[in-house]
Amino acid sequence: MKSKIETLKSQLLKALKAAKSDSEVRDLEVRYLGRSGKFNEIMRSLKDLSDEAKRTVGKLANMTKTELEVIVQKKYAELEMAAFDVIADKEWMDVTVPGTKPGVGHRHLISKFIEDLEVVFGRMGFAVAEGPDIETEHYNFDQLNMPADHPSRDMQDTFWVKNLKKMVLRTQTSPVQIRHMEAHEPPIRVISLGKTFRKDSDATHSPMFHQCEGLMVGEDISIANLKAVMTNALQQIFEDPAIKTRFRTSYFPFVEPGLEVDCTCPICHGEGKTADGVPCRLCKQCGWLEIAGAGMVHPKVLENVGYDSKKYTGFAFGMGLDRMVMIKHRVNHLRLLFENDLRFITQF
Ligand SMILES: [Zn+2]
Repeated sequence: MKSKIETLKSQLLKALKAAKSDSEVRDLEVRYLGRSGKFNEIMRSLKDLSDEAKRTVGKLANMTKTELEVIVQKKYAELEMAAFDVIADKEWMDVTVPGTKPGVGHRHLISKFIEDLEVVFGRMGFAVAEGPDIETEHYNFDQLNMPADHPSRDMQDTFWVKNLKKMVLRTQTSPVQIRHMEAHEPPIRVISLGKTFRKDSDATHSPMFHQCEGLMVGEDISIANLKAVMTNALQQIFEDPAIKTRFRTSYFPFVEPGLEVDCTCPICHGEGKTADGVPCRLCKQCGWLEIAGAGMVHPKVLENVGYDSKKYTGFAFGMGLDRMVMIKHRVNHLRLLFENDLRFITQF
């Protein structure tokens, strides 16, 4: 009986040594040490032996079984460690390698430019006024002294809102000026910036575009104030204190007199060609850029909002914001500003 126990022990040890997986070990454990395993078979056969033999053989069988149970547990641990080694070999990583940083975006050129303008005009005491993108015909045209037969009201130029009578997508930011004047008494200094809409689309026009308008109303406001504000603003916007402005007479229904504002070309500084003699393409060699429409607010517009046009005067100006971004950042096609092509956007 003793030798049978020794044989079982050496059989199991040999098999354990050869076992390569958990399931093989589990199999051996059940076969030898399990409830109906070989060791329990020996225990059950002890009943035929003498009392003396029962004790010694039973003791030996128990000790051996306990000893083997410990060895089986060790084998499990060994296999687990080996498995970890394989994983560590396969899936190792160098924790000192720098990680991949997530891309960080930045504000769009136009949003950034709008904020810059708010700062530039803010320094000169201008507050920001806001108004709706969908306007009434009353604010978009009537109050701005635009006659009922003015060509800009035409279906060709203006987006009229379907099923909403006399409502338009605002064609300019000027209605904000009217709304602001109706709600405030002079003196007034505001700019309004935002989206405007017209049926227009080519390299320099888009059906949606951005405008910046300014309005200053008070006592004794003159063209001299307009000139000072525009010149100062353009010098700051193009970051060039040498920028000069000039004013040419023009016509807009809401101002009298109406003026076109030009500034010296920020690339060739009014020379028409660059320092090394290359003809300037931006200003088409004339040295000046048309930059804004402006003028003294028409007395009729002041009266429309209930101001005393004998007491108060004011100036207003409007600039195409996208065009200024294009000039400042040398962008040659308007559509690039709205396409959201990362190859373009990430350059700035
Ligand atoms: Zn130029």
